[in-house]
Amino acid sequence: MKISDYGLHWFRRDLKVTDNPALTANLNKHQGRVLGLFCFDHVFLARKDFSVNRFQFFLHTLKELKAELNREGGDLLVLDSGPLFAYEQLFSSLKQKTISLPKTVSWNRDYEPFAIDRDRKMLHWFQQQGIASLVERDHLIIEPQEIYKGEDPSSTYQVFTPFKKKWLEKFETDEIQSRLKITRSIPFQMTWRDLFPGQAQLTDVLEAYIKNNQQRVTVPIPLAGTYAGIKAIELFKSKVKNYGKQRDIPSAAGTSRFSLFFKNGSLTTSQVIREMGLQNKSCWTEGQEKFVSEIIWREFYYYILARHPRVEKEAFVEKYKEIKWKNNEEWFVAWKEGKTGFPIVDAGMRELNQTGWMHNRVRMIVASFLTKDLHIDWRWGEQYFMEKLLDGDLAPNNGGWQWAASTGSDPQPYFRVFNPYLQSQKFDPEGAYIKTYIPELRHCNAKTIHEPPCDLMNRDYPAPMVDHSIQRQEALALYKFLGGD
Ligand SMILES: Cc1cc2nc3c(=O)[nH]c(=O)nc-3n(C[C@H](O)[C@H](O)[C@H](O)COP(=O)(O)OP(=O)(O)OC[C@H]3O[C@@H](n4cnc5c(N)ncnc54)[C@H](O)[C@@H]3O)c2cc1C
Repeated sequence: MKISDYGLHWFRRDLKVTDNPALTANLNKHQGRVLGLFCFDHVFLARKDFSVNRFQFFLHTLKELKAELNREGGDLLVLDSGPLFAYEQLFSSLKQKTISLPKTVSWNRDYEPFAIDRDRKMLHWFQQQGIASLVERDHLIIEPQEIYKGEDPSSTYQVFTPFKKKWLEKFETDEIQSRLKITRSIPFQMTWRDLFPGQAQLTDVLEAYIKNNQQRVTVPIPLAGTYAGIKAIELFKSKVKNYGKQRDIPSAAGTSRFSLFFKNGSLTTSQVIREMGLQNKSCWTEGQEKFVSEIIWREFYYYILARHPRVEKEAFVEKYKEIKWKNNEEWFVAWKEGKTGFPIVDAGMRELNQTGWMHNRVRMIVASFLTKDLHIDWRWGEQYFMEKLLDGDLAPNNGGWQWAASTGSDPQPYFRVFNPYLQSQKFDPEGAYIKTYIPELRHCNAKTIHEPPCDLMNRDYPAPMVDHSIQRQEALALYKFLGGD
């Protein structure tokens, strides 16, 4: 039987079957006759901040998605080119074989500047081909265009607290509550073989990518995919009551680690809110309230990026575009390698290098240290994080860096310079976290580990590379010069 009425779903960072709004709508429209497509865009693979390790986690997630789709009677084809070329190639091979083109191509919205531009062009191209596009909300609970001040849709919140207030008001509306309900796809009724019966298909490159990239991986890759994400939710359910107290302690494993899964859509925030029973705001405990607040920070940074795409390249605060960063290359190398002589900073950077992960409190400490103690441009640190983090994600990474450097929307005030010794005493009082990543300091006790005196310093561990109090004064001068008040 020739299939003439079917759709394609273009997977991007929504690597899941359930809770996938555009996929569900497309399946409903074509009674289950929808095929999945993923295209490796070489522009992404050639980016300066490309991460081999994060890519491997992504590839594993894609593999899990393919298995999930196959189990449900569906299918995924992975092509080795950007979307325009991939669709041109696919459509020309369909035409050659006198097979019908799809009636609909669906995808979920992406909020990053590069993707917004790409999607606009693809939408236009599909229009020219006479194919309907079906586009839905993706991983944000409330999208950037839906939150604005007063009656003016172009008026943007720049400060987190009023944004959060508005977000929470909207969260309680029926419209947003309906987004928290499970979006279950109807059964798939079609595979790529049904479209190309008995003929050679286009080459699927997923396994080849996994094999080639594996050789370059430098950290253990965690379990990926929707099932791993669901396990993470189960694990976190019992921890959320202590989240408020534990979330700042890097040795405590008190956070959810959902960011890994949010990054490629194998979990969504709507799903997490639902599965953790957080739909009703009036029932939140202190820990739950704090947890949702962090989810709102994530949405805030996406909101700022979508409404002010220039932050991808420059400071949000105009006057701080002009900061004269010192950008000492040797200092940058010492920071990257975890050899600054500041134990909490070094522990964080070594955790990042060895595992592809860093605890949020420590991310703030190392970012403050790079910008306000070493006077190195936040963009250098931002890029290094993207190269190394398994959860590296433009909006929260940019937001986190600009927060620490005091250049962002609603940042840390410029005169608040983290004292790495005090941060260490407060959040790693016994030095448990430091000792995990700096074996040279395992002989230190809880008193000496934060700022080891010279006679206790192991020969293998460096002396502090700068004097924090002097560097702090210089940082204040850098900002004050530009009118920091
Ligand atoms: C300098 C710097 C760089 C960062 N880079 C990234 C990044 O590349 N990718 C990324 O996902 N997060 C980034 N963050 C935010 C935060 O550190 C991580 O989201 C968090 O550590 C993830 O761990 P978790 O999932 O266990 O978080 P939890 O504490 O369990 O929080 C739940 C979720 O809330 C969101 N969230 C938590 N804290 C923040 C925050 N400060 N800002 C925005 N969203 C938050 C995340 O989506 C997280 O998964 C960065 C923060 C800083 C200070």
